[in-house]
Amino acid sequence: MPEIVRQNACPHLALEASIRRSFLGLRERVVLYAVCAKHLTEVREPVVGCGRCHEARLPPNT
Ligand SMILES: [Zn+2]
Repeated sequence: MPEIVRQNACPHLALEASIRRSFLGLRERVVLYAVCAKHLTEVREPVVGCGRCHEARLPPNT
């Protein structure tokens, strides 16, 4: 797993890649971004996490 995932506070973080074309469509570039697979929100600060899973983190059931 990429380092960015291991150190993340969000357990549902997923890295997505999208291809963006430039203005004239002559060049493509791959844009990586992180999303929370649980909340389906973009994670702007992958190191921090989505900011919601951390809040919702529940204590063990025991
Ligand atoms: Zn999350």
